[in-house]
Amino acid sequence: MTRELYVYNSLSRQKEKFKPIQDGYVGMYVCGPTVYNDVHLGNCRTFMSFDIIYRYLLYLGYKVRYVRNITDVGHLLDDGEDRMSKGARLDNLEPMEVAQKYSNGFHQMMRIFNTLPPSIEPRATGHILEQIEMVQQIIDAGYAYIQNGSVYFDTFNFAQKTGEYGTLSGRVIEDLLAESRDNLKNQDEKRHPSDFAIWMKASDEHIMKWNSPWSVGFPGWHLECSAMSTKYLGKRFDIHGGGNDLKFPHHENEIAQNIGACGCHPANYWLHTNMLLMNGKKMSKSDGNTISPQELFEGNSVHVTKGYSPMVVRFFMLQSHYRSPNDLTDEALLAAEKGWKRLMEAYKNLQELQSPTQQPAPLDERVAGILDQVFFDMDDDFNTPRALAGLFELVTLINSLKEKQLPIEEISSQILDRLKSNLKSVIFDIFGLIDEAGQQAGPVDPLMQLIIELRHQAREQKDWPTSDKIRDSLTQANIIIKDGKEGTTWSYK
Ligand code: AMP
Ligand code: ZN
Repeated sequence: MTRELYVYNSLSRQKEKFKPIQDGYVGMYVCGPTVYNDVHLGNCRTFMSFDIIYRYLLYLGYKVRYVRNITDVGHLLDDGEDRMSKGARLDNLEPMEVAQKYSNGFHQMMRIFNTLPPSIEPRATGHILEQIEMVQQIIDAGYAYIQNGSVYFDTFNFAQKTGEYGTLSGRVIEDLLAESRDNLKNQDEKRHPSDFAIWMKASDEHIMKWNSPWSVGFPGWHLECSAMSTKYLGKRFDIHGGGNDLKFPHHENEIAQNIGACGCHPANYWLHTNMLLMNGKKMSKSDGNTISPQELFEGNSVHVTKGYSPMVVRFFMLQSHYRSPNDLTDEALLAAEKGWKRLMEAYKNLQELQSPTQQPAPLDERVAGILDQVFFDMDDDFNTPRALAGLFELVTLINSLKEKQLPIEEISSQILDRLKSNLKSVIFDIFGLIDEAGQQAGPVDPLMQLIIELRHQAREQKDWPTSDKIRDSLTQANIIIKDGKEGTTWSYK
């Protein structure tokens, strides 16, 4: 922790030197997924970005408590129906079955992308009591009012007393008070359009509801993060994160609730990721401008010419800074695939290099300088694209040493050892990449080659039941096989 880390704080709108509240410990809260449908690539970008941040903090030696919630209640659709209930109604399931199904899918995708699990993953429905308590605290502080069993946060009163509302999103309170942007039902119950529900009285047909002092109802969506971050990280903690699109209203309202209930801002640093676009446009299901992670792995979409492995996708994500928009295109993925392969080849070449000299050598200073810069780039608000550029300077150098265009005596064994150790840390520990080819070259590959051969024979003999059985069993084991021009290949799903 001797390094100086700088992070861009969305609240102050500037880079700040990172200083945790408690020496050596970081409390980090990231808004997690709403588990009512399959996780999409945009979500994956945000969670991968925070995974890099988490990994870098761990690398720096911090003990990190990383809390990422699961939203399984309160996130309403425009017509006021809970997203979970709608999924349950359509598929004839219990709302908790919907939540579990998509949580499982989310976890599986996070594993495929090699993101580390958070330290705590609390669910909104498991924290109704904490949320009710927080509503009461906000009422007691005079920042909420009750109307027909629902409780609304009084943004006007809050803004007047604290001067805080709108500070994160940069919205002006007068505009907020005037506009009517909230599509929730019961608009007429609110004193001001910008007021928001922290507890909602449920209608008879509403499925997910709980007893409270005000009504049988359910918490407002923004409340869960205030209640759960306070419970697990305390009133004030270090980092709060999420996608840019959550700045308003979600995070703005979270801050208001926390100040209302606890008397202070919840987080010292607010970090926001930018959006993942596709072909230069917002990803959108209704416009067909979307691709699921699975379709991307399998190449099963009009938007790509082939499938890309999870690590190619992760590498692609690293090529842009988390605060910049990232445009997913087939060309960019092809380039990422090439880059990732080149990096892995150089890494393997590096393992074979041995220097005969212990004395300082001509290349030492340059290599040490690039390595230092890679870490400075990570210290500079986790600048992964710049750090990657540094790695590629090293790739060129390693390849020249391997091809003997540069004599190996020009680098000392100490610096070569540092290069090996630093590259291992950056590529695998910090960037969280996995050598997929190396993984496949393990004991599973010969077995897979045998299975592929047996399937091939079955197909030649038109023994379709056997070939189908092989494919189905592999699918069940999360293995995909693909027949292409160069033969049959396999990969983990
Ligand atoms: P949700 O499940 O929709 O609440 O989103 C989970 C997380 O993914 C939030 O932090 C969102 O801000 C983030 N997110 C949603 N769409 C995108 C996108 N296209 N690019 C990056 N992050 C996104
Ligand atoms: Zn949240």
